[in-house]
Amino acid sequence: MVAGVAIRGSRSLLRQIREAMASQQPAQAKLDMVVRIIAASMVAEVCSIYLRRASGDMELFATEGLDAKAVHVTRMKPGEGLVGEIMRLGRPLNLSDAPAHPAFAYRPETGEDPYHAFLGVPLLRGGRAIGVLVVQNRTERAYEDEEVEDLQIIAMVLSELVGAGGLIGAGELKDIEIAPHRPERLKGARFADGLAYGVAVLHEAPVAPDEMFSDDALAEDARLKTAIAALQAQIDGMLDGGQGLVGAPYEVLETYRLFAHDRGWNRGLEEAVRSGLTAEAAVERVRSEHRARLGQARDPYLRERLHDLEDLNDRLLRHLSGDGAVARVLPENAILIARNLGPADLLEYDRTKLRGLLLEEGSPASHAAIVARALDIPCVGRLSGLRDRVNEGDSVVVDGESAEAYLRPRADVVTAIASRMEVRAQRKAEFARLRDTPAFTRDGAKITLLMNAGLAVDLEMLREAGAEGIGLFRTEFQFMVAEQMPRLEAQTELYGRVLDAAGAMPVTFRTLDLGGDKLLPYMEAEREENPALGWRAVRMGLDRPALLRLQIRALLWAAKGRALRIMFPLVSSVDEFRAARALVDQEVSWAQRRGRVAPSRLDVGAMVEAPALLWHLDALLPMTDFVSVGTNDLMQYLFAADRGNPRVADRYDPLSPPALRALKQIQQACADTGTPVSVCGEMAGRPLEAFTLVALGFEALSMPPAGVGPVKQMVLSCDREAARRGVEALLKGAAGSVRGEIETLARKLYVAA
Ligand code: PEP
Ligand code: MG
Repeated sequence: MVAGVAIRGSRSLLRQIREAMASQQPAQAKLDMVVRIIAASMVAEVCSIYLRRASGDMELFATEGLDAKAVHVTRMKPGEGLVGEIMRLGRPLNLSDAPAHPAFAYRPETGEDPYHAFLGVPLLRGGRAIGVLVVQNRTERAYEDEEVEDLQIIAMVLSELVGAGGLIGAGELKDIEIAPHRPERLKGARFADGLAYGVAVLHEAPVAPDEMFSDDALAEDARLKTAIAALQAQIDGMLDGGQGLVGAPYEVLETYRLFAHDRGWNRGLEEAVRSGLTAEAAVERVRSEHRARLGQARDPYLRERLHDLEDLNDRLLRHLSGDGAVARVLPENAILIARNLGPADLLEYDRTKLRGLLLEEGSPASHAAIVARALDIPCVGRLSGLRDRVNEGDSVVVDGESAEAYLRPRADVVTAIASRMEVRAQRKAEFARLRDTPAFTRDGAKITLLMNAGLAVDLEMLREAGAEGIGLFRTEFQFMVAEQMPRLEAQTELYGRVLDAAGAMPVTFRTLDLGGDKLLPYMEAEREENPALGWRAVRMGLDRPALLRLQIRALLWAAKGRALRIMFPLVSSVDEFRAARALVDQEVSWAQRRGRVAPSRLDVGAMVEAPALLWHLDALLPMTDFVSVGTNDLMQYLFAADRGNPRVADRYDPLSPPALRALKQIQQACADTGTPVSVCGEMAGRPLEAFTLVALGFEALSMPPAGVGPVKQMVLSCDREAARRGVEALLKGAAGSVRGEIETLARKLYVAA
């Protein structure tokens, strides 16, 4: 009998294994039964299971055919013998004459001398090899491809059954490395500030063992084929999309297409389904094999391809689950773990239970990071190897302050985090008490504290934070979290909601600030040498006036007779502002001609971010109704230091004479011409920096919601005139950063900065 036929003929083998594992016996007896079942079914004289100890050694755990005395005695060091070779490669080894293989290590205690044919497959879980399943025969023969595939399916079922933990108690297998279980600390990059402690929820959840089997292989096969066809059509459609709008860079899609139409990939999936797995389990099986194979690749190109494949698998799983996939039920205090998140993924989770987010990849400008900040959920990204190191249900700490993740933290770490969380909560409560207190300095200057926003979810923070309006609404966020270009209606709807939420409070809408680090997944972009200096923001808007006019139209419609403030990003010349303003005028008269209600008041302003404007404020300011200083970009351009590059981003201190003099110059020019001015970069939300801005004479600051409380506390404790004198004095003749001096000044003046 051919082994493959045995499995295909009766899918009962997988059932028998499952039943053996579910029986009321000690773990050892279960594994002994399993090897007997497999040996009989595959007509193998030997079947053995090796599992990995925490030390990395591979230990013979159960065998049918080898000497029973070798069980728990035979151990292979990492990389030793054929078993070590399989662990290293993460893929099957099929040999007709095993002793002739250079990696063969002879172990007399096993009595394996007479066996020549050898087939070993790794037990994979989450892309990690946790053990090896081996069958051997006396005769010199190579196992058929189908037999290899069958053994892989058995191995997958086995590793899921063992790894899920419910069938063999963790205690029974003591220090077996079935799942990572030691405390680990990973260093990443801070995407959103804050602290969280909770339970790991895997975004790409593995298929649960009890959903792995199907009694109706034909039905599963049909489901699989439908899903694959839909996937192929989707990818082909993306590629043929034309109009410059595609779902991902072209070469990535090409790779997708290659995989999606790959016969090997499809056949692997179909085989798995035919043997009795559900379509979902089949996807997981093929996925874990790819992970193990490509994950170890040194070649970055190959590793990239693995990401493409992961994505493809996720897409296929989504097609299988159908569009009506219900939202996942989260435990209380959920910490979401993902490789990366797509545009709308994070918003699909129940926010009341989501405490933190850990990402293996991403960037601070990625969708997930933007949404996490908007939701005030701490997020650490770029944690390499994260997904293989964490199990669903593990306890996890997200430390957004130090950009670290603690997996299965020790009790003392949890205690330390809990007390830091307590301190943060107390401070938050203090700030909440100030919510309705207007921000006057001790000497009576009113400082207007506004909030930066960009998504509908931000609006809830408006009152909670105690802000007096929205000083910067980043309209591009709606575009960045969408699957496709938001149409006029969607834009109008969002802007209308923002104005509704703000009520009488002012809102400054900034027109699309795309390009640079903010790219749209569905818009083809040319790779630029220097994106920060490239085709972005208002430059793009002026070159694509249809896009900008559509947005202005949406803003005018949304205002419906209310006051409207529009601001243009990265204006670099007076002519640009003039041209942008002309588009607004055109839209206003277009709306008038159609009898639409005009805004009760329309203010059009510019962001001061390009240093060139500093020497042309005399021409710019009379043309604008207001300006706002975008210090994030202004500093990047002043110091010629990429704000997104951690090597240089913090190299230059905005609290230093060149930056502060530039800011003072802007403030003075605005004061001289009576032009309203605010500062809306991140520095406005940091108390010491905000203290300095107030000292320089700025009276409106717009910041992330979390900054409003601390900055208000600073303002209430500040004597502006004393601060002004102090900062003026210490700027004279200062060499580099004056941060230390400003700190001392604030302390001397009893300012809470
Ligand atoms: C800035 O540059 O300071 C700013 C507020 O705009 P963004 O951070 O969106 O570029
Ligand atoms: Mg900017």
